[in-house]
Amino acid sequence: MDVQRVDVAIVGSGFAGIGAAVRLRGAGREDFVILEKGDTLGGTWRDNTYPGCACDVQSHLYSFSFAPNPDWTRTFARQPEIRAYLERVADRFGVRDRIRYGAEVTEARWVGRGWRLRLREGGEVHARVVVWGTGALHEPSVPDIPGLDEFAGTAFHSAQWRHDHDLTGRRVAVIGTGASAIQFVPAIQPRVASLSLFQRTAPWVLPKPDRPVPAAVRRLYRAAPALQKLQRALIYARNEALVSGFLKPRRMAVVERIARAYLHRVFADRPDLEAKVTPDFTIGCKRILMSNDYYPALKRPGVDVVTEKIVRITPDAVVTADGAEHEVDTIIFGTGFTVGAGLGKSVPIIGRDGVRLADSGVVEAFLGTTIAGFPNLFVLTGPNTGLGHSSMIYMIESQLNYVLDALRVLDEHGAVALDTRRDRQDAYNAELQRRLEGSVWTAGGCASWYLDEDGRNRTLWPGYTFQFRRRTRKVRPADHELLA
Ligand code: NAP
Repeated sequence: MDVQRVDVAIVGSGFAGIGAAVRLRGAGREDFVILEKGDTLGGTWRDNTYPGCACDVQSHLYSFSFAPNPDWTRTFARQPEIRAYLERVADRFGVRDRIRYGAEVTEARWVGRGWRLRLREGGEVHARVVVWGTGALHEPSVPDIPGLDEFAGTAFHSAQWRHDHDLTGRRVAVIGTGASAIQFVPAIQPRVASLSLFQRTAPWVLPKPDRPVPAAVRRLYRAAPALQKLQRALIYARNEALVSGFLKPRRMAVVERIARAYLHRVFADRPDLEAKVTPDFTIGCKRILMSNDYYPALKRPGVDVVTEKIVRITPDAVVTADGAEHEVDTIIFGTGFTVGAGLGKSVPIIGRDGVRLADSGVVEAFLGTTIAGFPNLFVLTGPNTGLGHSSMIYMIESQLNYVLDALRVLDEHGAVALDTRRDRQDAYNAELQRRLEGSVWTAGGCASWYLDEDGRNRTLWPGYTFQFRRRTRKVRPADHELLA
């Protein structure tokens, strides 16, 4: 059997995987491979190619600190530019040729002194250390609506966009009004004959301060990198200001007033529509969305915002609880992702004593990165590292500090592996849950994918991101058991 032996195996080649590879190389650790199930790199920015796909975090912050990009053409870059940036980073830091494409991990098992990763194509990779960088949101979630199988038209998920399906003149149903839908709805609306938008919960939407970056400003950033650094710091500080509101929802009143005023301004002439799209929960409870063209698109002729519950799909219509048949030939699911699908749920991860991760349905980690019973497994964007206000790349870089320091600790102690102490992990999670009590995510009056089956938020970091950075700077050996 084909067996590749490496010191570190990185799973996934999105921002997390590429970032990990760059940092490993920077630390002189050359014995690693990146396992990528696809045939190109880019993670979520490779998969999501829907029209209008863009980032809702400002580009100067949504980039690696070690690879600033003075050439961002917009304040909020669009998908092709972000994907190209990641490719450039992979080339510039010489990690692209470390990617093994078509290498889909189907099982990870701790086998005493390291991990055995099984690949779908056959063969195995044996690694002392695994850096899991598949991201929390990559498995499209399509609701199980009765009759969907019999739909005679074309149906697809926003993360699997059918570019071969021309939407010109089509009667389109869009299901979902989340972060993805509010980007592609205005992008496709001008082309389609009719658009029925099925909204289960109205989201809060703020205007997006998105604009082109003039060429002169880009030249300035290139000539004076300190200026761009300053810009990044200002964006960072402004975003962090939201955290106090997340933790004390009363303070969100100011942001909610801004959103309400925007809503009222756009729909001044359409009170019927305003009533339909006004959210009924505290802003911040679900991800706050930003768009300048979503609300205006809903006012266009041929657009119907449907708030009745979907009950079934027929070969040519979406049927709602009021009995209405909304005739369509295309259904686009903007219904999000199976949260944490990468973490032990779709790919079995078997740790010490044959224990399977996520067996109980719940996955908790220590500092969102290590998991008791799963030695030398480092999960990037793991439990409670998500953000509703800032850049995940900042969190990934914090986690990478921790990974690199863990490798240093292992070397210094002459140890093979590090396994987090269960009591430390439990105490850490109890502290997180205490901090989350009363936060807008639990007290804001909404249901969201931030909360898991038992109603706990095991998704978001409940604080300022610099607090996370501080805590992940150094590994405290006392938090872990070192295995010889
Ligand atoms: P999402 O935010 O989870 O939104 C899913 C939408 O589908 C929601 O409106 C949801 O309604 C609806 N929905 C789900 N199941 C449904 C059902 N059975 N029937 C009717 N409606 C249903 O998903 P997403 O828009 O793909 O975004 C996922 C995450 O990706 C975001 O939160 C964000 O973290 C990330 N993202 C980021 C960007 C960016 O700019 N950085 C862009 C896109 C996505 P309910 O609200 O009622 O559940």
